[in-house]
Amino acid sequence: MKRRSFLKLSCGLGAGIMLSGLGLSLMPVEGMAQELKKIDKVKSAAQTTSICCYCAVGCGLICSTDKSTGKIINIEGDPEHPVNEGSLCAKGAGIYQTTEANPHRLTKVLYRAPHADKWEEKDWDFAIDRIAAHIKKERDASFMVKNKDGAVVNRLETVAHMGSSNIDSEECWNIAAFARSLGLVYLEHQARV
Ligand code: SF4
Repeated sequence: MKRRSFLKLSCGLGAGIMLSGLGLSLMPVEGMAQELKKIDKVKSAAQTTSICCYCAVGCGLICSTDKSTGKIINIEGDPEHPVNEGSLCAKGAGIYQTTEANPHRLTKVLYRAPHADKWEEKDWDFAIDRIAAHIKKERDASFMVKNKDGAVVNRLETVAHMGSSNIDSEECWNIAAFARSLGLVYLEHQARV
């Protein structure tokens, strides 16, 4: 740690102890202490380079792995990579959150029934069957072979596909090709936002 950062941190900790004495929240100080711990851990971690999978820009990453547990503990932009020189867009900067280190990552299918206010855990068979049944119902009812001018369009305009922030270029291509094969024209993706 540089001298300047050390001084900043010391001041922060001192102020935090004083605030705690006055009955004020220590959350920011605790957050800073966590950051310091993480910096220490990253310094002694095994570092490997990788490429962000999300888009064709191909930004360079440094992945830090805890040598004792073999678990990934940090991912950040690679300052020596000629494409991004250490910077990452919001999507790439959040890539660490997609690893098993994130306890809030979704790992199960969650379903909320119409008009319900609670989520239920389901399995993939339930989700796939339900999605397939809805798509079939819509295609049977609304598939448009020709438009009002008589031109063949083969469209399904009552179903849209949206997502996702956590899929890469190749997955996006597969999903777009599949959706278009069903006649969908309303496709949207987080990367356009
Ligand atoms: S998604 Fe962002 S971080 Fe990832 S390669 Fe593209 S521009 Fe870089």
